[in-house]
Amino acid sequence: MKFLLLRGASVLVSAGALFLAGCGADGPVVWPISGATEGDFPLSSTFGPRVRTEDDVYDFHRGIDIAVPEGTDIYAIAAGRVSEIQKNTSAGGMLVKVDHGGYYSTYVHCSDVEVDVGDSVDAGEVIAQSGKASNGFAHLHFEIRKPGDNKKDCVHPLEVLPYTDKGAPTLEIGKVDMTNPLQPKITITARVGAGELDLRRVSVATFEADAGVILEGLTPLSERSYDTDDWNRTYTSSESDIVIDDPDNEGILVRPKKYNNTMPSYEVDFTFTGLVGTVTSGLLRIRAVATDVTGNVISVESH
Ligand SMILES: [Zn+2]
Repeated sequence: MKFLLLRGASVLVSAGALFLAGCGADGPVVWPISGATEGDFPLSSTFGPRVRTEDDVYDFHRGIDIAVPEGTDIYAIAAGRVSEIQKNTSAGGMLVKVDHGGYYSTYVHCSDVEVDVGDSVDAGEVIAQSGKASNGFAHLHFEIRKPGDNKKDCVHPLEVLPYTDKGAPTLEIGKVDMTNPLQPKITITARVGAGELDLRRVSVATFEADAGVILEGLTPLSERSYDTDDWNRTYTSSESDIVIDDPDNEGILVRPKKYNNTMPSYEVDFTFTGLVGTVTSGLLRIRAVATDVTGNVISVESH
């Protein structure tokens, strides 16, 4: 039996360069700190898997973090109605939630709140002041929940906030473990730049095909994927704070590299098991695909 695997040629399919989301029927959408549409980059943390800097613990982050000094004005991102205020959250500080009709924005670790439940707010209206988390980190934790307002409804905030998209993620086929050639373990590395942090989905497919054959259009032996929104919906309970964020879930080992707002990119290794290898003497070929929030896609094939 022979296999050849390796980093391959890449095929890039990319959508447009500029993407402004959220300018729907309900009016403009702005960022919660700048109150503008350019974006509060660099973010300290993005939506999705991360390694907490303070204790190296794996953690699925349900929002974005924006580091700002305590007392910074926080703006409602869009017109809506204040649906919830919590005075003392276990995460630290106060929480404000705004119902925008179809989705919710949530502002956490606030030191002060300037609105009441039931108040109508406009995009860019000051609703609170920023504070710090219980660990002392001064920042705004911001979430978008859609369509419900439970933790499991959290989606990538860049699906709603406007930003300038710089193109598809970068993607590499890394280690291919053929200890059991019928069940290869394949590691895919995906990376997005600090100016966008919009990784949404990574998938891998195995094929039996001769070297050089274009895999697009062929039926894969197997295919697996990791989607940040789906992962949160699957592994977050809506009724309690119990969270099953185990990087080994589903046979997908998720290993985010450490990231903070001084780093140029956010990178995650995904090791997929449960894949099917070649059963005869054919060549194992691999295709990996990564998608960002705006739908930019990159596809990489092994030779
Ligand atoms: Zn956070």
